[in-house]
Amino acid sequence: MSTVTAATASAAPVRVRIAPSPTGDPHVGTAYIGLINFLYARQRGGQFILRIEDTDRTRFVPTSEQMIFDALRWLGLTWDEGPDCGGPFGPYRQSERTEIYREHAQMLIDNGTAYRCFCTAEELEAVRKQQTAAKLPPRYPGTCRHLSAAQSAENLAAGKPFVVRMVVPAGSTTFRDELRGDITFEHSNVDDQVLLKSDGFPTYHLANVVDDHLMQITDVIRAEEWISSTPKHVLLYQSFGWQAPRFWHMPLLRNIDKSKISKRKNPVSLVYYRDSGFLPQAVINFLGLMGGGMPSPTPIEIVNGAKENEVFSLQQMIERFEVPNIRLGGPVFDLTKLRWLNSEYIRALSPEQFYAALRETVLSDRYLSQIAPLIQSRVDTLGQFGDLTSFLLRDDVMPPAEVWVPKKRTPEETLLFAAEQLAVLEATDWTLEALEPALKQLGESRAWSVKENFMLLRAILTGSTMSPPLLESMVVFGKARTLDRMRRFLETQKKLAAQNQPKK
Ligand code: GLU
Repeated sequence: MSTVTAATASAAPVRVRIAPSPTGDPHVGTAYIGLINFLYARQRGGQFILRIEDTDRTRFVPTSEQMIFDALRWLGLTWDEGPDCGGPFGPYRQSERTEIYREHAQMLIDNGTAYRCFCTAEELEAVRKQQTAAKLPPRYPGTCRHLSAAQSAENLAAGKPFVVRMVVPAGSTTFRDELRGDITFEHSNVDDQVLLKSDGFPTYHLANVVDDHLMQITDVIRAEEWISSTPKHVLLYQSFGWQAPRFWHMPLLRNIDKSKISKRKNPVSLVYYRDSGFLPQAVINFLGLMGGGMPSPTPIEIVNGAKENEVFSLQQMIERFEVPNIRLGGPVFDLTKLRWLNSEYIRALSPEQFYAALRETVLSDRYLSQIAPLIQSRVDTLGQFGDLTSFLLRDDVMPPAEVWVPKKRTPEETLLFAAEQLAVLEATDWTLEALEPALKQLGESRAWSVKENFMLLRAILTGSTMSPPLLESMVVFGKARTLDRMRRFLETQKKLAAQNQPKK
Protein backbone atom coordinates (compact mmCIF):
# COMPACT_ATOMS: atom_id res chain seq x y z
CA MET A 1 0.00 0.00 0.00
CA SER A 2 1.46 3.36 -0.91
CA THR A 3 1.06 6.40 1.29
CA VAL A 4 -0.51 9.75 0.66
CA THR A 5 1.78 12.36 -0.87
CA ALA A 6 3.80 14.42 1.58
CA ALA A 7 2.07 17.62 0.66
CA THR A 8 -1.34 16.35 1.67
CA ALA A 9 -0.15 14.26 4.63
CA SER A 10 1.52 17.24 6.24
CA ALA A 11 -1.51 19.51 5.87
CA ALA A 12 -3.33 20.40 9.09
CA PRO A 13 -5.95 17.82 10.11
CA VAL A 14 -9.20 18.58 8.44
CA ARG A 15 -12.76 18.15 9.63
CA VAL A 16 -15.39 17.58 6.99
CA ARG A 17 -19.01 16.56 7.11
CA ILE A 18 -21.99 15.46 5.18
CA ALA A 19 -25.29 16.82 6.34
CA PRO A 20 -28.13 14.86 4.75
CA SER A 21 -31.75 15.71 5.44
CA PRO A 22 -33.85 12.65 6.34
CA THR A 23 -36.59 13.25 3.81
CA GLY A 24 -36.84 9.82 2.18
CA ASP A 25 -34.65 7.07 0.79
CA PRO A 26 -30.89 7.76 0.95
CA HIS A 27 -29.86 9.34 -2.35
CA VAL A 28 -26.94 8.35 -4.60
CA GLY A 29 -25.89 12.01 -4.44
CA THR A 30 -25.44 11.70 -0.67
CA ALA A 31 -23.14 8.71 -1.20
CA TYR A 32 -21.19 10.57 -3.91
CA ILE A 33 -20.64 13.63 -1.73
CA GLY A 34 -20.06 11.32 1.25
CA LEU A 35 -17.33 9.49 -0.66
CA ILE A 36 -15.52 12.71 -1.59
CA ASN A 37 -15.63 13.95 2.01
CA PHE A 38 -14.57 10.55 3.33
CA LEU A 39 -11.57 10.38 0.99
CA TYR A 40 -10.55 13.95 1.77
CA ALA A 41 -10.60 13.24 5.51
CA ARG A 42 -8.95 9.82 5.32
CA GLN A 43 -6.10 11.13 3.16
CA ARG A 44 -5.35 13.91 5.57
CA GLY A 45 -5.69 12.16 8.90
CA GLY A 46 -8.82 14.20 9.48
CA GLN A 47 -12.31 13.53 10.76
CA PHE A 48 -15.43 12.71 8.74
CA ILE A 49 -18.62 13.74 10.46
CA LEU A 50 -22.23 12.77 9.81
CA ARG A 51 -24.77 15.39 10.79
CA ILE A 52 -28.49 14.92 10.32
CA GLU A 53 -30.24 18.11 9.18
CA ASP A 54 -33.78 17.36 10.25
CA THR A 55 -35.20 20.79 10.96
CA ASP A 56 -37.63 20.81 8.05
CA ARG A 57 -40.42 19.00 9.85
CA THR A 58 -42.76 19.11 6.87
CA ARG A 59 -40.46 16.85 4.82
CA PHE A 60 -39.24 14.68 7.71
CA VAL A 61 -39.51 10.89 7.19
CA PRO A 62 -38.91 8.98 10.45
CA THR A 63 -37.39 5.87 8.82
CA SER A 64 -35.01 7.87 6.67
CA GLU A 65 -32.23 8.44 9.19
CA GLN A 66 -31.66 4.74 9.82
CA MET A 67 -31.71 4.09 6.07
CA ILE A 68 -28.99 6.74 5.62
CA PHE A 69 -26.84 5.06 8.29
CA ASP A 70 -27.35 1.61 6.73
CA ALA A 71 -26.64 2.76 3.18
CA LEU A 72 -23.42 4.60 4.07
CA ARG A 73 -22.17 1.64 6.11
CA TRP A 74 -23.05 -0.73 3.28
CA LEU A 75 -20.73 1.31 1.06
CA GLY A 76 -17.98 1.35 3.69
CA LEU A 77 -18.21 5.09 4.28
CA THR A 78 -17.76 5.04 8.05
CA TRP A 79 -17.93 8.27 10.00
CA ASP A 80 -15.99 9.33 13.08
CA GLU A 81 -18.66 11.44 14.75
CA GLY A 82 -22.41 11.27 14.29
CA PRO A 83 -25.82 10.90 15.92
CA ASP A 84 -25.34 7.19 16.59
CA CYS A 85 -21.73 7.19 17.79
CA GLY A 86 -21.59 10.65 19.37
CA GLY A 87 -18.44 12.76 19.50
CA PRO A 88 -17.07 15.87 21.19
CA PHE A 89 -19.30 18.33 19.30
CA GLY A 90 -22.72 16.70 19.64
CA PRO A 91 -25.59 16.39 19.46
CA TYR A 92 -25.28 15.65 15.73
CA ARG A 93 -29.00 15.78 14.99
CA GLN A 94 -30.19 19.33 14.41
CA SER A 95 -33.60 18.84 15.99
CA GLU A 96 -31.73 18.33 19.28
CA ARG A 97 -29.90 21.63 18.91
CA THR A 98 -32.77 24.11 18.57
CA GLU A 99 -31.81 25.98 21.73
CA ILE A 100 -28.35 26.61 20.26
CA TYR A 101 -29.87 28.14 17.12
CA ARG A 102 -32.23 30.35 19.11
CA GLU A 103 -29.31 31.67 21.16
CA HIS A 104 -27.35 32.36 18.00
CA ALA A 105 -30.26 34.14 16.33
CA GLN A 106 -30.46 36.32 19.42
CA MET A 107 -26.74 37.11 19.12
CA LEU A 108 -27.34 38.45 15.63
CA ILE A 109 -30.38 40.48 16.72
CA ASP A 110 -28.23 41.95 19.49
CA ASN A 111 -25.43 42.97 17.14
CA GLY A 112 -27.83 44.41 14.57
CA THR A 113 -27.23 41.91 11.74
CA ALA A 114 -30.66 40.28 12.12
CA TYR A 115 -34.11 41.47 13.12
CA ARG A 116 -37.52 40.17 14.10
CA CYS A 117 -40.05 40.34 11.30
CA PHE A 118 -43.72 40.45 12.33
CA CYS A 119 -45.20 40.57 8.83
CA THR A 120 -48.13 38.21 8.50
CA ALA A 121 -48.49 35.65 5.73
CA GLU A 122 -51.33 37.76 4.25
CA GLU A 123 -49.23 40.91 4.20
CA LEU A 124 -46.37 39.09 2.48
CA GLU A 125 -48.77 37.57 -0.01
CA ALA A 126 -50.22 40.99 -0.86
CA VAL A 127 -46.72 42.35 -1.53
CA ARG A 128 -45.89 39.34 -3.67
CA LYS A 129 -49.01 39.89 -5.75
CA GLN A 130 -48.13 43.54 -6.35
CA GLN A 131 -44.61 42.59 -7.36
CA THR A 132 -45.83 39.90 -9.72
CA ALA A 133 -48.30 42.35 -11.26
CA ALA A 134 -45.47 44.86 -11.75
CA LYS A 135 -43.31 42.04 -13.23
CA LEU A 136 -40.79 42.43 -10.42
CA PRO A 137 -39.03 39.47 -8.81
CA PRO A 138 -40.63 38.50 -5.49
CA ARG A 139 -38.66 40.16 -2.70
CA TYR A 140 -39.22 40.81 0.97
CA PRO A 141 -39.69 44.59 1.02
CA GLY A 142 -37.71 45.05 4.24
CA THR A 143 -40.69 46.40 6.20
CA CYS A 144 -39.54 45.17 9.60
CA ARG A 145 -35.88 45.93 9.04
CA HIS A 146 -36.72 49.52 9.91
CA LEU A 147 -38.86 48.79 12.93
CA SER A 148 -37.65 50.74 15.99
CA ALA A 149 -36.46 48.78 19.01
CA ALA A 150 -39.49 50.06 20.92
CA GLN A 151 -41.94 48.93 18.24
CA SER A 152 -40.30 45.53 18.03
CA ALA A 153 -40.42 45.12 21.82
CA GLU A 154 -44.08 46.14 21.83
CA ASN A 155 -44.96 43.52 19.22
CA LEU A 156 -43.02 40.93 21.11
CA ALA A 157 -44.77 41.77 24.38
CA ALA A 158 -48.13 41.56 22.61
CA GLY A 159 -47.24 37.99 21.67
CA LYS A 160 -47.23 38.60 17.90
CA PRO A 161 -45.67 35.71 16.00
CA PHE A 162 -42.39 36.54 14.27
CA VAL A 163 -39.54 35.15 12.24
CA VAL A 164 -35.93 36.29 12.47
CA ARG A 165 -34.41 37.59 9.24
CA MET A 166 -30.83 38.44 8.42
CA VAL A 167 -29.90 41.87 7.16
CA VAL A 168 -28.51 41.53 3.66
CA PRO A 169 -26.69 44.86 3.14
CA ALA A 170 -26.33 46.55 -0.23
CA GLY A 171 -23.30 45.43 -2.22
CA SER A 172 -21.98 42.03 -3.13
CA THR A 173 -20.23 39.02 -1.63
CA THR A 174 -17.24 37.27 -3.13
CA PHE A 175 -16.06 33.92 -1.90
CA ARG A 176 -13.50 31.44 -3.10
CA ASP A 177 -14.64 28.09 -4.35
CA GLU A 178 -11.64 25.76 -4.23
CA LEU A 179 -12.60 24.15 -7.53
CA ARG A 180 -13.81 27.22 -9.40
CA GLY A 181 -12.02 30.24 -8.01
CA ASP A 182 -13.74 33.45 -6.91
CA ILE A 183 -17.50 33.69 -7.23
CA THR A 184 -19.36 36.96 -6.74
CA PHE A 185 -23.04 37.39 -5.93
CA GLU A 186 -24.76 40.76 -6.09
CA HIS A 187 -26.94 41.29 -3.04
CA SER A 188 -29.65 42.83 -5.15
CA ASN A 189 -30.48 39.20 -5.94
CA VAL A 190 -30.52 38.09 -2.30
CA ASP A 191 -33.54 38.48 -0.04
CA ASP A 192 -33.34 39.18 3.70
CA GLN A 193 -33.28 35.47 4.51
CA VAL A 194 -35.38 33.95 7.25
CA LEU A 195 -33.04 32.42 9.84
CA LEU A 196 -35.52 31.34 12.48
CA LYS A 197 -39.08 30.35 11.61
CA SER A 198 -42.10 31.33 13.64
CA ASP A 199 -42.20 27.86 15.21
CA GLY A 200 -38.72 28.54 16.64
CA PHE A 201 -37.02 26.09 14.25
CA PRO A 202 -34.03 27.36 12.32
CA THR A 203 -33.82 27.41 8.54
CA TYR A 204 -31.10 25.52 6.71
CA HIS A 205 -28.86 28.61 6.46
CA LEU A 206 -28.68 29.40 10.17
CA ALA A 207 -28.42 25.83 11.42
CA ASN A 208 -25.86 24.87 8.80
CA VAL A 209 -23.53 27.80 9.50
CA VAL A 210 -23.81 27.59 13.29
CA ASP A 211 -23.12 23.86 13.23
CA ASP A 212 -20.25 24.02 10.76
CA HIS A 213 -18.64 26.61 13.01
CA LEU A 214 -19.30 24.90 16.33
CA MET A 215 -18.27 21.52 14.92
CA GLN A 216 -15.04 23.15 13.68
CA ILE A 217 -15.56 22.10 10.08
CA THR A 218 -12.55 23.18 7.99
CA ASP A 219 -13.86 22.27 4.54
CA VAL A 220 -17.43 22.32 3.32
CA ILE A 221 -17.52 19.88 0.42
CA ARG A 222 -21.03 19.76 -0.98
CA ALA A 223 -22.99 19.65 -4.21
CA GLU A 224 -23.05 22.49 -6.70
CA GLU A 225 -26.72 23.12 -6.03
CA TRP A 226 -25.74 24.86 -2.78
CA ILE A 227 -23.54 27.51 -4.44
CA SER A 228 -26.28 30.13 -4.34
CA SER A 229 -26.61 29.54 -0.58
CA THR A 230 -22.93 30.14 0.04
CA PRO A 231 -22.95 33.99 -0.14
CA LYS A 232 -25.68 33.94 2.50
CA HIS A 233 -23.53 31.67 4.61
CA VAL A 234 -20.46 33.85 4.11
CA LEU A 235 -22.49 36.87 5.24
CA LEU A 236 -23.57 34.93 8.31
CA TYR A 237 -19.98 34.03 9.18
CA GLN A 238 -19.16 37.73 8.92
CA SER A 239 -22.14 38.70 11.07
CA PHE A 240 -20.99 36.32 13.78
CA GLY A 241 -17.38 37.47 13.39
CA TRP A 242 -16.27 33.93 12.52
CA GLN A 243 -13.75 32.64 10.01
CA ALA A 244 -15.54 30.82 7.18
CA PRO A 245 -14.42 27.31 6.17
CA ARG A 246 -13.10 26.48 2.69
CA PHE A 247 -15.85 25.70 0.17
CA TRP A 248 -15.76 23.03 -2.53
CA HIS A 249 -18.83 22.66 -4.71
CA MET A 250 -18.88 19.34 -6.51
CA PRO A 251 -20.36 19.02 -9.99
CA LEU A 252 -23.86 17.57 -9.92
CA LEU A 253 -24.50 14.04 -11.06
CA ARG A 254 -26.32 14.04 -14.38
CA ASN A 255 -28.70 11.79 -16.26
CA ILE A 256 -27.45 10.53 -19.61
CA ASP A 257 -29.17 13.48 -21.30
CA LYS A 258 -27.08 15.78 -19.04
CA SER A 259 -30.05 17.00 -17.01
CA LYS A 260 -29.63 17.00 -13.23
CA ILE A 261 -29.96 13.45 -11.94
CA SER A 262 -33.59 12.66 -11.23
CA LYS A 263 -35.63 9.70 -10.21
CA ARG A 264 -37.68 10.03 -13.38
CA LYS A 265 -34.66 8.90 -15.38
CA ASN A 266 -32.51 6.86 -12.99
CA PRO A 267 -33.11 5.04 -9.76
CA VAL A 268 -31.56 7.41 -7.19
CA SER A 269 -32.23 5.47 -4.01
CA LEU A 270 -29.26 3.59 -2.59
CA VAL A 271 -31.79 1.09 -1.24
CA TYR A 272 -32.67 0.23 -4.84
CA TYR A 273 -29.07 -0.58 -5.71
CA ARG A 274 -28.53 -2.66 -2.59
CA ASP A 275 -31.80 -4.58 -2.88
CA SER A 276 -31.42 -5.24 -6.60
CA GLY A 277 -28.08 -6.86 -6.04
CA PHE A 278 -25.49 -4.29 -6.95
CA LEU A 279 -22.31 -4.97 -5.01
CA PRO A 280 -21.18 -2.18 -2.71
CA GLN A 281 -17.65 -2.38 -4.18
CA ALA A 282 -19.09 -1.69 -7.64
CA VAL A 283 -21.29 1.18 -6.48
CA ILE A 284 -18.49 2.92 -4.60
CA ASN A 285 -16.10 2.36 -7.54
CA PHE A 286 -18.69 3.83 -9.87
CA LEU A 287 -19.18 6.88 -7.64
CA GLY A 288 -15.40 7.29 -7.56
CA LEU A 289 -15.42 7.56 -11.35
CA MET A 290 -17.77 10.52 -11.17
CA GLY A 291 -15.85 13.74 -11.47
CA GLY A 292 -12.54 12.07 -12.33
CA GLY A 293 -10.55 12.49 -9.14
CA MET A 294 -8.40 9.44 -9.85
CA PRO A 295 -5.05 10.08 -11.50
CA SER A 296 -4.95 8.69 -15.01
CA PRO A 297 -3.44 6.56 -16.40
CA THR A 298 -3.41 4.58 -13.19
CA PRO A 299 -1.12 1.59 -12.68
CA ILE A 300 -3.78 -0.08 -10.61
CA GLU A 301 -5.14 -3.56 -10.47
CA ILE A 302 -7.58 -4.40 -13.21
CA VAL A 303 -10.30 -6.89 -12.47
CA ASN A 304 -10.79 -9.61 -15.09
CA GLY A 305 -8.67 -7.80 -17.62
CA ALA A 306 -11.03 -4.86 -17.95
CA LYS A 307 -9.33 -2.54 -20.44
CA GLU A 308 -10.13 0.79 -18.89
CA ASN A 309 -8.37 1.99 -15.78
CA GLU A 310 -11.70 2.27 -14.16
CA VAL A 311 -11.82 -0.53 -11.68
CA PHE A 312 -10.55 0.39 -8.23
CA SER A 313 -11.36 -0.21 -4.59
CA LEU A 314 -12.16 2.23 -1.82
CA GLN A 315 -8.70 1.58 -0.39
CA GLN A 316 -7.09 2.43 -3.72
CA MET A 317 -9.13 5.60 -3.85
CA ILE A 318 -7.87 6.57 -0.40
CA GLU A 319 -4.36 6.13 -1.76
CA ARG A 320 -4.74 7.93 -5.07
CA PHE A 321 -7.92 9.97 -5.45
CA GLU A 322 -7.42 13.73 -5.25
CA VAL A 323 -10.35 16.04 -4.64
CA PRO A 324 -8.53 19.00 -6.27
CA ASN A 325 -8.33 16.91 -9.48
CA ILE A 326 -12.10 16.85 -9.80
CA ARG A 327 -13.29 18.02 -13.20
CA LEU A 328 -16.26 20.33 -13.30
CA GLY A 329 -18.01 18.91 -16.37
CA GLY A 330 -21.12 17.18 -15.01
CA PRO A 331 -20.36 13.51 -14.33
CA VAL A 332 -22.90 11.27 -16.02
CA PHE A 333 -24.57 8.63 -13.90
CA ASP A 334 -24.71 5.99 -16.60
CA LEU A 335 -26.61 2.97 -15.38
CA THR A 336 -25.32 0.83 -18.25
CA LYS A 337 -21.80 1.53 -17.10
CA LEU A 338 -22.65 0.76 -13.49
CA ARG A 339 -24.14 -2.56 -14.57
CA TRP A 340 -21.00 -3.33 -16.54
CA LEU A 341 -18.84 -2.50 -13.54
CA ASN A 342 -21.04 -4.62 -11.31
CA SER A 343 -20.73 -7.52 -13.72
CA GLU A 344 -16.94 -7.20 -13.56
CA TYR A 345 -17.03 -7.42 -9.80
CA ILE A 346 -19.44 -10.35 -9.89
CA ARG A 347 -17.19 -12.29 -12.27
CA ALA A 348 -14.21 -11.64 -10.04
CA LEU A 349 -15.92 -13.27 -7.03
CA SER A 350 -15.08 -16.85 -6.12
CA PRO A 351 -18.06 -19.25 -6.37
CA GLU A 352 -18.29 -19.15 -2.58
CA GLN A 353 -18.27 -15.37 -2.50
CA PHE A 354 -20.87 -15.23 -5.24
CA TYR A 355 -23.15 -17.58 -3.35
CA ALA A 356 -22.60 -15.59 -0.17
CA ALA A 357 -23.50 -12.38 -2.00
CA LEU A 358 -26.77 -13.90 -3.23
CA ARG A 359 -27.59 -15.06 0.28
CA GLU A 360 -26.95 -11.60 1.68
CA THR A 361 -29.22 -9.85 -0.78
CA VAL A 362 -31.78 -11.26 -3.20
CA LEU A 363 -31.89 -14.66 -1.47
CA SER A 364 -31.38 -13.53 2.11
CA ASP A 365 -33.20 -15.30 4.91
CA ARG A 366 -34.77 -12.00 5.74
CA TYR A 367 -36.24 -11.62 2.27
CA LEU A 368 -37.28 -15.23 1.72
CA SER A 369 -38.91 -15.42 5.14
CA GLN A 370 -41.06 -12.43 4.22
CA ILE A 371 -42.06 -14.00 0.92
CA ALA A 372 -42.99 -17.41 2.35
CA PRO A 373 -46.13 -16.33 4.26
CA LEU A 374 -47.50 -14.71 1.10
CA ILE A 375 -47.88 -18.06 -0.64
CA GLN A 376 -48.26 -20.73 2.06
CA SER A 377 -52.01 -21.03 1.61
CA ARG A 378 -51.70 -20.99 -2.19
CA VAL A 379 -49.42 -23.95 -2.94
CA ASP A 380 -50.04 -27.69 -3.04
CA THR A 381 -46.36 -28.57 -3.03
CA LEU A 382 -43.29 -26.68 -1.87
CA GLY A 383 -42.00 -27.03 -5.42
CA GLN A 384 -44.50 -24.38 -6.52
CA PHE A 385 -42.68 -21.71 -4.55
CA GLY A 386 -40.96 -20.37 -7.64
CA ASP A 387 -44.13 -20.46 -9.75
CA LEU A 388 -45.86 -18.02 -7.47
CA THR A 389 -42.98 -15.82 -6.39
CA SER A 390 -40.76 -15.41 -9.43
CA PHE A 391 -41.83 -11.78 -9.84
CA LEU A 392 -40.24 -11.08 -6.45
CA LEU A 393 -37.01 -12.74 -7.50
CA ARG A 394 -36.69 -11.24 -10.96
CA ASP A 395 -35.13 -7.99 -12.03
CA ASP A 396 -37.40 -7.33 -14.96
CA VAL A 397 -41.05 -8.09 -15.57
CA MET A 398 -42.97 -6.79 -18.56
CA PRO A 399 -46.68 -7.64 -18.93
CA PRO A 400 -48.21 -7.92 -22.42
CA ALA A 401 -50.94 -5.41 -23.29
CA GLU A 402 -53.76 -7.91 -22.79
CA VAL A 403 -52.70 -8.18 -19.17
CA TRP A 404 -52.33 -4.53 -18.26
CA VAL A 405 -55.05 -2.74 -20.25
CA PRO A 406 -58.43 -3.17 -18.48
CA LYS A 407 -61.32 -4.21 -20.74
CA LYS A 408 -63.12 -0.88 -20.70
CA ARG A 409 -60.03 1.30 -21.01
CA THR A 410 -57.69 2.45 -23.74
CA PRO A 411 -53.93 1.94 -23.44
CA GLU A 412 -53.45 5.73 -23.37
CA GLU A 413 -55.75 6.37 -20.41
CA THR A 414 -54.32 3.34 -18.64
CA LEU A 415 -50.80 4.67 -18.95
CA LEU A 416 -51.92 8.06 -17.67
CA PHE A 417 -53.50 6.38 -14.67
CA ALA A 418 -50.39 4.24 -14.09
CA ALA A 419 -48.29 7.42 -14.01
CA GLU A 420 -50.65 8.78 -11.38
CA GLN A 421 -50.35 5.59 -9.38
CA LEU A 422 -46.59 6.01 -9.48
CA ALA A 423 -46.80 9.61 -8.26
CA VAL A 424 -49.09 8.61 -5.40
CA LEU A 425 -46.89 5.69 -4.40
CA GLU A 426 -43.78 7.86 -4.45
CA ALA A 427 -45.39 10.06 -1.83
CA THR A 428 -46.78 7.27 0.33
CA ASP A 429 -45.28 5.53 3.36
CA TRP A 430 -44.50 1.94 2.51
CA THR A 431 -46.97 0.25 4.87
CA LEU A 432 -50.25 -1.55 4.24
CA GLU A 433 -52.05 1.01 6.35
CA ALA A 434 -50.85 3.87 4.17
CA LEU A 435 -50.84 2.19 0.74
CA GLU A 436 -54.41 0.96 0.64
CA PRO A 437 -56.21 4.25 1.34
CA ALA A 438 -53.81 6.22 -0.85
CA LEU A 439 -54.49 4.03 -3.88
CA LYS A 440 -58.22 3.84 -3.23
CA GLN A 441 -58.45 7.58 -2.95
CA LEU A 442 -56.70 8.01 -6.27
CA GLY A 443 -59.04 5.48 -7.90
CA GLU A 444 -62.13 7.22 -6.56
CA SER A 445 -60.97 10.63 -7.70
CA ARG A 446 -60.38 9.33 -11.25
CA ALA A 447 -63.41 6.99 -11.44
CA TRP A 448 -61.25 3.88 -11.67
CA SER A 449 -62.83 0.94 -9.85
CA VAL A 450 -60.86 -0.76 -7.11
CA LYS A 451 -60.67 -3.82 -9.34
CA GLU A 452 -59.23 -1.94 -12.34
CA ASN A 453 -56.89 0.03 -10.12
CA PHE A 454 -55.41 -3.01 -8.42
CA MET A 455 -55.39 -5.15 -11.58
CA LEU A 456 -53.23 -2.59 -13.32
CA LEU A 457 -50.79 -2.40 -10.45
CA ARG A 458 -50.71 -6.18 -10.22
CA ALA A 459 -49.97 -6.45 -13.93
CA ILE A 460 -47.08 -3.99 -13.67
CA LEU A 461 -45.57 -5.54 -10.56
CA THR A 462 -46.08 -9.22 -11.30
CA GLY A 463 -46.55 -9.33 -15.08
CA SER A 464 -49.68 -11.39 -14.56
CA THR A 465 -53.38 -11.22 -13.71
CA MET A 466 -52.94 -13.44 -10.68
CA SER A 467 -50.59 -13.07 -7.75
CA PRO A 468 -50.24 -13.42 -4.00
CA PRO A 469 -51.87 -10.49 -2.12
CA LEU A 470 -50.76 -7.40 -4.01
CA LEU A 471 -50.12 -4.80 -1.34
CA GLU A 472 -48.39 -7.33 0.92
CA SER A 473 -46.19 -8.30 -2.02
CA MET A 474 -45.33 -4.66 -2.66
CA VAL A 475 -44.36 -4.17 0.96
CA VAL A 476 -42.05 -7.18 0.80
CA PHE A 477 -40.57 -6.15 -2.57
CA GLY A 478 -39.84 -2.72 -1.13
CA LYS A 479 -40.57 0.82 -2.21
CA ALA A 480 -37.40 1.43 -4.20
CA ARG A 481 -37.74 -1.66 -6.38
CA THR A 482 -41.51 -1.34 -6.85
CA LEU A 483 -41.19 2.24 -8.03
CA ASP A 484 -38.35 1.27 -10.33
CA ARG A 485 -40.47 -1.48 -11.88
CA MET A 486 -43.29 0.99 -12.47
CA ARG A 487 -40.94 3.53 -14.03
CA ARG A 488 -39.45 0.91 -16.32
CA PHE A 489 -42.92 -0.19 -17.33
CA LEU A 490 -43.96 3.36 -18.20
CA GLU A 491 -40.70 4.03 -19.98
CA THR A 492 -40.97 0.86 -22.08
CA GLN A 493 -44.59 1.47 -22.98
CA LYS A 494 -43.79 5.04 -23.98
CA LYS A 495 -41.05 3.80 -26.29
CA LEU A 496 -43.29 1.11 -27.77
CA ALA A 497 -46.06 3.63 -28.35
CA ALA A 498 -43.62 5.98 -30.10
CA GLN A 499 -42.40 3.14 -32.35
CA ASN A 500 -45.97 2.28 -33.28
CA GLN A 501 -46.81 5.85 -34.26
CA PRO A 502 -47.52 5.96 -38.01
CA LYS A 503 -44.58 7.72 -39.71
CA LYS A 504 -45.40 11.14 -41.13
N1 GLU B 1 -29.01 19.46 4.46
C1 GLU B 1 -28.36 19.75 3.21
C2 GLU B 1 -28.60 18.57 2.29
O1 GLU B 1 -29.61 17.98 2.43
C3 GLU B 1 -26.89 20.01 3.46
C4 GLU B 1 -26.19 20.76 2.39
C5 GLU B 1 -24.80 21.14 2.85
O2 GLU B 1 -23.94 20.27 2.81
O3 GLU B 1 -24.62 22.25 3.29
O4 GLU B 1 -27.84 18.20 1.45
